[in-house]
Amino acid sequence: MNAVSPESAGFPGLVDSHCHLDFPDFDGKMAEIREEMRANGVTHALCISVNLAGFPKVLDLAEAHDNFFATVGVHPDHEDRTAVDPARLVELARHPRVVAIGETGLDYYRVSGDLEWQRERFRAHIRAARECGKPLVIHTRQAAQDTLAIMREEGAGEVGGVMHCFTESQAVADAAVALGFHISFSGIVTFKNAGALKDVARQVPPERLLVETDSPYLAPVPHRGKINRPGLVRHVAEEVARLRGIALSELAAATTSNFFRLFKVGVG
Ligand SMILES: [Zn+2]
Ligand SMILES: [Zn+2]
Repeated sequence: MNAVSPESAGFPGLVDSHCHLDFPDFDGKMAEIREEMRANGVTHALCISVNLAGFPKVLDLAEAHDNFFATVGVHPDHEDRTAVDPARLVELARHPRVVAIGETGLDYYRVSGDLEWQRERFRAHIRAARECGKPLVIHTRQAAQDTLAIMREEGAGEVGGVMHCFTESQAVADAAVALGFHISFSGIVTFKNAGALKDVARQVPPERLLVETDSPYLAPVPHRGKINRPGLVRHVAEEVARLRGIALSELAAATTSNFFRLFKVGVG
């Protein structure tokens, strides 16, 4: 077993597969965020779009830093219910630094009432992803069955992607993996009361595992309650490695190569 630590040369490097570095929490803090990433062996981060108005700032991050990438999409919680045009997403996704469509999906926890608009928005994202051949970043909360049903109906498996900040059951994980999707764990997996999720983190096939922070949210133990940032993905990775009984370097090697393969980006 290779037990190289993030401080050592030869550590494979970790990737934060989901963060919101365009949020105001991080304004003027990029130098310290990037330094903290370096100190923790976190080599790359995927900056996630939550609405089209904010997309230019997400893209700016990916253009300014060669180890940041961007996605384009409208989050299911985004209040403006104007229909999302798949053609517009495809056009924005043509930029070489945009590696995925999302985040998209369904959220029946934060938004209620007739959510047909949310399901339509999700369908539009899957159509766009298939059109441009880029994978999907999917958010699902208290909506797992509808999320999976729409993924199947719209042929999401053709492009694949990731179920981000995964908090669902083993059965949902299995169904997503069967559709060709990856499962990404956030700081939630480090929480003491996350017993069922810890079991899922033991079971996901190694070639489908990813780790993320969802910064600025969900800081992992021992930083719970603080503003999260990509360097702290190390704590998520350490916990998943511990649960699987493998070295951090082995977990890093697997999740990082999964990231590069899924999002079709080169190392460096
Ligand atoms: Zn999300
Ligand atoms: Zn997010």
